[in-house]
Amino acid sequence: MISYRLLQFNSISIRIFAAKLNYAIMNFQNSISLFESAKKYFPGGVNSPVRAFKSVGGTPIFIEHGKGSHIWDEDKNEYIDYCCSWGPLILGHANDTVLTAVEKTMRKGTSFGAPSRAENELAELILKNNSYIEKLRFVSSGTEAVMSAIRLARGYTKRNKILKFEGCYHGHADSLLVKAGSGLVTFGNSSSAGVPQSFVNETISVELNDKTAVEKAFEQFKNEIACIIIEPIPANNGLLLQDKSFLTFLREICSVNKSLLIFDEVISGFRIGFEGAAGYFNIKPDIITYGKIIGGGFPVGAYGASHQIMSCISPEGSVYQAGTLSGNPVAMSAGKAQLTECLKENFYTGLSTKTNYLVNGILKNNTFKLFKLFSIGSVFWISFTDKEKINSSSQINANNLNHFNKLYHLLLEEGVYLGPSGYEVGFVSEAHSYDDLDKTIKAFSNALSKL
Ligand SMILES: *Cc1c(COP(=O)(O)O)cnc(C)c1O
Repeated sequence: MISYRLLQFNSISIRIFAAKLNYAIMNFQNSISLFESAKKYFPGGVNSPVRAFKSVGGTPIFIEHGKGSHIWDEDKNEYIDYCCSWGPLILGHANDTVLTAVEKTMRKGTSFGAPSRAENELAELILKNNSYIEKLRFVSSGTEAVMSAIRLARGYTKRNKILKFEGCYHGHADSLLVKAGSGLVTFGNSSSAGVPQSFVNETISVELNDKTAVEKAFEQFKNEIACIIIEPIPANNGLLLQDKSFLTFLREICSVNKSLLIFDEVISGFRIGFEGAAGYFNIKPDIITYGKIIGGGFPVGAYGASHQIMSCISPEGSVYQAGTLSGNPVAMSAGKAQLTECLKENFYTGLSTKTNYLVNGILKNNTFKLFKLFSIGSVFWISFTDKEKINSSSQINANNLNHFNKLYHLLLEEGVYLGPSGYEVGFVSEAHSYDDLDKTIKAFSNALSKL
């Protein structure tokens, strides 16, 4: 009791002291106690690792609700949100158009495990407005989309090996949890326990932007490589923007070697434009994977390709892939409602204009040039670096993350929520207003003055 009182007294006096100094001290008590409970239920207290705040330190914030560009936590703290559920919410939280569509569909039943009209409608909307794929298959997550795309590439080419890039994330399927080994072209190492070495041996992992390493791999494993998989706009390990010439090179080397090129557009799809990175660069990969935005905030993924390649998928072909909740009508209607908004005129230019405004505003106050802001479309990345350009993961200095971690907590105090890791990018949504952006610029300026 005494210690409690003391604690209470201290916390009050700290608050008064802080108020005098004009510091906002936020209360995270409810998040802290929810996290304590969560740790009893889930490994590390979470259902996806990055949510645990391990990278930035401190306790994860439990979100109570969101509307538009704002979220509120369980302690009633309000934030402008640039995580946007890691990208899916391109219209912001609880968008009315999406909610109306979802509610209408939901009342007619939530799942049938049989075909329903909503699947056709979302597919038609996508395929009519995308010149890079002819046929789709819906699944329930980005991981599942990529996993299926890899199986399709292997089934189509009748080859086993895949080539991926260090610093690209493709979900958590076994053969993709592989990081580059030492040496130029070697078998990688698993980046997770529980992945058999025999799976790892089928994955070649090289640095982004390294043409020589890709050429060497094709020499060494002639007629063995089923596909190259890349995030054409790598945005899971910082924002490692690639030159178009590198992607063109990948397109050519795949064609020459009869390997398939997979663009993993789970982030970039419907984000960098309706046709994603394929449209942005005007490069036609053989298979494209989607996730995040495609489901309007519901669990949806998809992979698409030409009629010919997609005809390998069961029941038409011999590559098996299925899902109880695939093409779920509620999720389909959310996706359709969201993507319909994305197709409106100037939707993407509006987003880029806002993002540029935000980035330039923040940089103006970055007088000590502590960090760079890399951005494309409505994606941005804060990087504590003195490099003008970063296009491979080896160029990221991990020591600099300490600065991000400090900035992160200062920004929370200022009411700005970013994804809790310096390797994560931020997203601007349709719901972010110029008032939000001005407040964010001010928040950065305040946070930087304390850094
Ligand atoms: C998020 C992501 C995935 C995994 O998607 P989940 O829905 O989290 O399984 C795969 N690839 C890329 C490029 C992603 O950004």
